[in-house]
Amino acid sequence: MCSIKLTESRGTNEDKRMHMTDIMRGDSPTFSFEFFPPKTPEAAELLYQTIRDLESYMPHFISVTYGAGGSTRDLTHDLVERIQHTTKLDPIPHLTCICHNEEEIEAILLRYARSAIGNILALGGDRPRDIPYDKSRDSFQHAVDLVKFIRRFNESGAHPDRRGFGIGVAGFPEGHPATPNRLVEMDHLKAKVDAGADYMVSQLFFDNRDFLDFRERCALAGIHIPIIAGIMPITSMSGLKRIAELAGGARFPAKLVRALQRCENDPEGVRRVGVHFALEQCHDLLDNNVAGIHFYTLNRSDATRVIFDSLGIPRRQSAQAPTVSSSYKGRKRLAN
Ligand SMILES: Cc1cc2nc3c(=O)[nH]c(=O)nc-3n(C[C@H](O)[C@H](O)[C@H](O)COP(=O)(O)OP(=O)(O)OC[C@H]3O[C@@H](n4cnc5c(N)ncnc54)[C@H](O)[C@@H]3O)c2cc1C
Repeated sequence: MCSIKLTESRGTNEDKRMHMTDIMRGDSPTFSFEFFPPKTPEAAELLYQTIRDLESYMPHFISVTYGAGGSTRDLTHDLVERIQHTTKLDPIPHLTCICHNEEEIEAILLRYARSAIGNILALGGDRPRDIPYDKSRDSFQHAVDLVKFIRRFNESGAHPDRRGFGIGVAGFPEGHPATPNRLVEMDHLKAKVDAGADYMVSQLFFDNRDFLDFRERCALAGIHIPIIAGIMPITSMSGLKRIAELAGGARFPAKLVRALQRCENDPEGVRRVGVHFALEQCHDLLDNNVAGIHFYTLNRSDATRVIFDSLGIPRRQSAQAPTVSSSYKGRKRLAN
C-alpha cells in the first residue's frame, strides 16, 4: 500500500466520475497535472503536500505515471485509488504494454472500473532499465493494441459508465525517436485514434511551433481528437539534464539555453527563467486555442502554481457532474 495519507473523503466516486468527452465538452481549455508514484516516505510526504496545494486549483484531471517494476506499479494503482477515494480530484492512471499480459491488464482494468476511474492513458511504455525485460512476453506490442483491448473491455459492459473508460494516447510533436519516418509515425498515431482513442496528451516540448505544426499535421492526417499540450517548467540545471535524458530527442531552443546560461550559477534565477519560459509558452498556446495544458509537475507544485496564477485563469469551483446516465451492467467475457 502507498504510505501517503491524504485528506478526508469528500464525495463519492459517482460524484466525480468523468469520461474525457464530458471533461472536454466545455469551451475553455483543460488544465491538468501529472504525478509519479513516490518510492520513499519523504517523497510520499512531498507528494501529499503537492496534491493538497494543487487541489484548490481544481484541475480538470490529474494523471499518475506507471513504471515497469511490480512494486512501483502497485504504488500507481494505490495512489490512483487513494486520490479517487479521498480527494476532490479526478485521477487518470497511465497504463503500459511493457511487461504485461492480457490477464494482468484485464485485472487492472476491472480494479479501476470498480473504483469508477473514468479514463486511462494507454501507452507503449518505457523499457525498464533496472530489471530484465523480454518483449516477446508482452501481450501487446504497441499502444494501439492496448487501446483495442480497452475498447473491448469497454464494450463488455464491465465499467459503471456505459461508455467505459475514456482512452488517452501519447503524441510526440517533435517525433518519436523509434520511428524516424514521420509519415509512417503519423500512420501509427492515426491507427491509435481509429482504434478508439478519445484524446491525446503530448510529450513535453519547448518550441510551440513544434506543437502547432504537429496539431496541423494531425488534422491533415484525419486526427480530430483533442490534443492536450504537455508543458514542463524547468526549475534547475540538473532538471534540464534529466529532461534531456528522459525525453529523448527533446529540442531546447537557443532562446531558452541562452537565458539559462546567463544564470546557471544562480538556482533561483534558473527557476525564474524556466517558469517564465513555460508561462510564455502557455500564453501562446492559449492564444492558439489549445484544447488543454498538462503540467509535468515532477511532484512539485510551486512552479505550476506560479504559472497557473499568472495565467489569470479563474479557479473552477467543483467538477461538473457527468451528463450521461450510466448503469452497471455486469461483465461480459472479453473476446479477441
Ligand atoms: C503523455 C505521456 C505520458 C507518458 N507516461 C508514461 C508512463 O507513465 N510510463 C512509461 O513507461 N512511459 C510513459 N511515457 C513514455 C512512452 O511510454 C514512451 O515514449 C514510449 O516509447 C512511446 O509510447 P507510445 O504510447 O507512443 O507507444 P506506441 O504508440 O506503441 O509507439 C511507440 C513507437 O512504436 C511505433 N509504432 C507504433 N505502432 C507501430 C506498429 N504497428 N508497427 C511498428 N511501429 C509502431 C511508434 O511510431 C513509436 O515510434 C509517456 C509519454 C507521454 C508522451
